[in-house]
Amino acid sequence: MLTLVFHSSGTDLVAEQRAEPDVANYDVLIRVEACGVCRTDLHVRAGELPDIDYPIVPGHQVVGWVVAAGTRSPVAIGERVGVAWLGWTCGQCDYCRTGRENLCDAARFHGYQLDGGYAEYMRADGRYCFPLDPALPAATTAPLLCAGLIGFRSLRMAGDARRIGLYGFGSAAHIVTQVATHEKREIYAFTRPGDTDACEFALEIGATWAGGSDQPAPCDLDAALIFAPDGALVPKALKDVRKGGMIICAGIHMTDIPSFPYSHLWGERQIRSVANLTRQDGHDFMALAAEGFLQPRVTTYPLADANAALADLANGALTGTAVLMVD
Ligand SMILES: [Zn+2]
Ligand SMILES: [Zn+2]
Repeated sequence: MLTLVFHSSGTDLVAEQRAEPDVANYDVLIRVEACGVCRTDLHVRAGELPDIDYPIVPGHQVVGWVVAAGTRSPVAIGERVGVAWLGWTCGQCDYCRTGRENLCDAARFHGYQLDGGYAEYMRADGRYCFPLDPALPAATTAPLLCAGLIGFRSLRMAGDARRIGLYGFGSAAHIVTQVATHEKREIYAFTRPGDTDACEFALEIGATWAGGSDQPAPCDLDAALIFAPDGALVPKALKDVRKGGMIICAGIHMTDIPSFPYSHLWGERQIRSVANLTRQDGHDFMALAAEGFLQPRVTTYPLADANAALADLANGALTGTAVLMVD
């Protein structure tokens, strides 16, 4: 099978022919149809995350068909599944036993410690796969499995916030905008200063307002979701939210946060992060996706062009999400 591999930090993907992985117990072998490209894949390329298991096949937004299954797998041959970031958890620690498996210290993640979906086939633990409707289009379903899910978890963390600022308007933000407007909330999109294309895209998707992240919010916001990996956006967002407002940092990696006066946090403002996802998030979000109102904007590439897709994401040359088409 064709597989794209990072061998060390700071290097491009290398195309390799490998044997299809064996499956046993809970495992399934998945014939990949499509795999989304995530900013986290850039962090893996750059070695910006700890404990990356090189050589590693990236990819954690996978849509495919189960073609082999271990005897204990809860999903069977012939089923269509989605695979997300969470690949395995211990099931026994305090976090796992209290519905917070996303925080498990022993957790393993696809495309990071477990080989992911930049390949014709991938192995996954069937207990961490999400059954998908066979009618869903592969290209526009793949981005839901990370960009969509992380945005969804971030939005749920914001509680009943009505006016929500999104900082960094890429893959996750454009999907969360569709969820939020469906729920009759208002979205204020902050893009890279001068990125008029991103502003137009945000307004087209349903944002109430769009502007550069160097501009103040046009009104007091209830919550801010930060998707861009720029720590300077945290003190900026603190100025935009009203008392009691929440800043939610959704990225796995962010540059250092500059210091700011305590008065900007005062008034019961909160800052917190979103880490990973639980399987419950996945099931809840896929149920929402099945309603059919989510229409992620995608740019597709053949699997063999994955390096070009990563370059376009790194250069901000994409609108929406890059998706590798495999099958
Ligand atoms: Zn655990
Ligand atoms: Zn991701």
